[in-house]
Amino acid sequence: MKSEDLFREAQKFLPGGVNSPVRAYKPYPFFAKKGEGSKIFDVDGNSYIDYCLAYGPLVLGHANQKVVNEVKEQLEKGSAYGVPTENEIELAKLVIDKVPCAEMVRFVNSGTEATMSSIRLARAFTGKNKIIKFEGAYHGAHDYVLVKSGSGAVGLPDSPGVPVDTIKNTILIPFNNREALNQAITSEEDIAALIVEPVMGNIGCIPPKDGYLKFLRRITQQNDIVLIFDEVITGFRLSEGGAQEYFGVTPDLVTLGKILGGGFPIGALAGRKGIMEMITPSGHVYQAGTFNGNPISITAGLYTLNQLDNNFYKELNRKGIAIQDGIQDIIDDNRLNLKLAGLASMFQIYFNERDVWNYKDAKLSDTEKFNKYFHKLLDEKIFIPPSQFECCFLSLMHDDEDIQKTLEVVEEAIRTI
Ligand SMILES: *Cc1c(COP(=O)(O)O)cnc(C)c1O
Repeated sequence: MKSEDLFREAQKFLPGGVNSPVRAYKPYPFFAKKGEGSKIFDVDGNSYIDYCLAYGPLVLGHANQKVVNEVKEQLEKGSAYGVPTENEIELAKLVIDKVPCAEMVRFVNSGTEATMSSIRLARAFTGKNKIIKFEGAYHGAHDYVLVKSGSGAVGLPDSPGVPVDTIKNTILIPFNNREALNQAITSEEDIAALIVEPVMGNIGCIPPKDGYLKFLRRITQQNDIVLIFDEVITGFRLSEGGAQEYFGVTPDLVTLGKILGGGFPIGALAGRKGIMEMITPSGHVYQAGTFNGNPISITAGLYTLNQLDNNFYKELNRKGIAIQDGIQDIIDDNRLNLKLAGLASMFQIYFNERDVWNYKDAKLSDTEKFNKYFHKLLDEKIFIPPSQFECCFLSLMHDDEDIQKTLEVVEEAIRTI
């Protein structure tokens, strides 16, 4: 097995054999050879229907021909300049056109950078220090947001190396719970920002309760708190304008990534002009990057986003609903104690008897059962993210045959676990 050998070799040179932790599942991850449409191929000659899609970016599937051609053309002309390009304006205009809260955009290299900069910006804008985030929400790998729940309201560093002093400024509360947020805001005046994944996509898939996002909008407005939607997953996934369009709630700032780069590294923050103009060099809030606005990523983003019109989302969401309806039927027909969660083209099955509305609910799931389910699917050449606490995605390239085969495999797997 080539993947097994490669993983053994990789572990000698890369911590854990991988460059991002979720990729290292047991006994060894398959190593990719290529991707094509809805399929990913490994070095051992297998091909899988891919519901990981690089953890979300590939809404057009692997190696979209239009994007490939445009990137090839750009590559011939150079891959980085350190001076601006016209395409940066074009992509910014597209983002502003599609995303309701976006009046100006700063392009960065990752979602992590986007949330880090958006938090700094919110602090500068409000002149306040603290931020509120939700338990189980993921906003990238930087210190401000690597906080986990401790005893009571005080959070703990979620990684060695994160100073307690840093996370003292981060207040952690449960999602979908109005009372907890009311309390946090009443007992603390120094709150600059509330950052939220409008649909939590890094703890499985947890949608907001009816009216909850509107409540967040109202209470932040009343208390001069900047509302940041972290739409690194939901942006260009749920609809053309992301979750803010889908749910009809406009935040002050949005962070984007994943789909925005059309499969290449990118991130962005965007929002109201009055806030965005505080960023250097038009303002004083420091933000910079050698590869910001990189011409390859910008080109890929441009030719991805301009394929994403209303009809695209109708078709993508039809597929998403088809697979979720199919899974729900399987659960009902077999009277299984599982919870399907999801909307549009994102979903997850929780091995959980209870509905999942927040981090604590999600953590009650049976991860051993999930692990068996993951491996059964993998044996049948269906690849989903290897964790109960990730989310499955569809692309436009997933056809009805892929979905049919997936449903058969899922039924067999969850009936026998
Ligand atoms: C993936 C993700 C990030 C981090 O983006 P990177 O490009 O991996 O740094 C931030 N927020 C959310 C909601 C994400 O899903």
